[in-house]
Amino acid sequence: MLKGKTALVTGSTSGIGLGIALTLARQGAHVVLNGFGDSEGPIKEVQEAGKDQATRVGYHGADMSKPADIEAMMAYIDKEFGGCDILVNNAGIQFVANVEDFPAEKWDAIIAINLSSAFHTMRLALPGMKQRQWGRIINIASTHGLVASAGKSAYVAAKHGLLGLTKSAALETAQLPVTVNAICPGWVLTPLVQKQIDARAQKEGLDPDEAKRQLLAEKQPSLQFTTPEELGALAVFLCSDAAINVRGQAWAMDGGWTAQ
Ligand code: NAD
Repeated sequence: MLKGKTALVTGSTSGIGLGIALTLARQGAHVVLNGFGDSEGPIKEVQEAGKDQATRVGYHGADMSKPADIEAMMAYIDKEFGGCDILVNNAGIQFVANVEDFPAEKWDAIIAINLSSAFHTMRLALPGMKQRQWGRIINIASTHGLVASAGKSAYVAAKHGLLGLTKSAALETAQLPVTVNAICPGWVLTPLVQKQIDARAQKEGLDPDEAKRQLLAEKQPSLQFTTPEELGALAVFLCSDAAINVRGQAWAMDGGWTAQ
């Protein structure tokens, strides 16, 4: 379905980003990966996923907290792939502390990586999408873009901001074949959440399974983690022709978290 399109998925060496990259490759899109840590393993996985579709896989190690790195990555995509058609802003980090204890440098890093990076990729990708008359921007926000939790002020502020950015950009492109939407996952079992499970287990002297059960029970009525594959399937739908009139939405996939 996405043959001939090029997708950039930021923060795709792990977790949700890797899941979405794999799903887009299976649909035939060329995929550019980004993120820290091992890149060889994820590159091979995505190549394997797209091999029947002759998917090309690229990688750029831009630090998403640095606008100059983001500019270099977008220039690389223009040069090597002829532009970015599908932009998935997914890179993100978490830090948990009350406002008065929140380290200022952690605040700055979360706002830069979870919010400002999406502004930079969007401002650089939109001109090409408009010129080629096709584009899909999918911002990976969170239930924390819709509701708050204590101890997550920077993350909640960044994700609420990301939904605002999504709505503004969707209105600016409302009459074009370019759509801008957000996905709001609930708990997904990735390294980002595993750290929070480990912290809970340690703080409350719980075994890991009990800590996991309690984490879900507190917020997510389905008591099931959302999976990267489910989020990938939603991203594919947002890229489809059928989704042309889905614009500026914050689409929750959260096991009922925000229905409460
Ligand atoms: P993860 O830790 O598994 O993956 C994060 C990815 O971002 C990794 O590839 C990492 O290398 C990359 N990254 C981090 N800092 C970066 C930087 N400065 N520059 C470039 N890449 C960087 O986390 P995840 O759970 O897959 O989270 C992905 C996104 O989904 C985040 O935006 C997160 O806020 C969001 N989200 C996660 C959950 C969840 O329950 N896991 C729920 C809602 C939203």
